Amino acid sequence: MKLPASVKVGALDYAIAEFAGRDAASRNLYGEVLHPSQRIHVDTSHGPARSALALLHEFLHAAINVHDIDVDDEKEETIVRQLTASIGAAMRDSPEVFRFLVDSLTQREEA
Ligand SMILES: [Zn+2]
Repeated sequence: MKLPASVKVGALDYAIAEFAGRDAASRNLYGEVLHPSQRIHVDTSHGPARSALALLHEFLHAAINVHDIDVDDEKEETIVRQLTASIGAAMRDSPEVFRFLVDSLTQREEA
């Protein structure tokens, strides 16, 4: 599976790269986000659905950081896990809604 190269989070670009499976497994992680270096690492060895959820999870952590959302670390992890599950399920069950959102938000007005 080929990961996208980067994702915009507010005014910043976060690079997206493979999370070396050995490192991820030894730390019991599917992904990680490194805010100072603006990097997201995803372990793709568990298949596309797990990879997508890991990327969404780390993106939400990045958004909380970049937009200075004031929440303690434990609460942040709970919020991110719940939103990842909710948004991930909605994307799987109602992909037409997310296609509509992406199409609408990326549509260019003709001059
Ligand atoms: Zn997390």
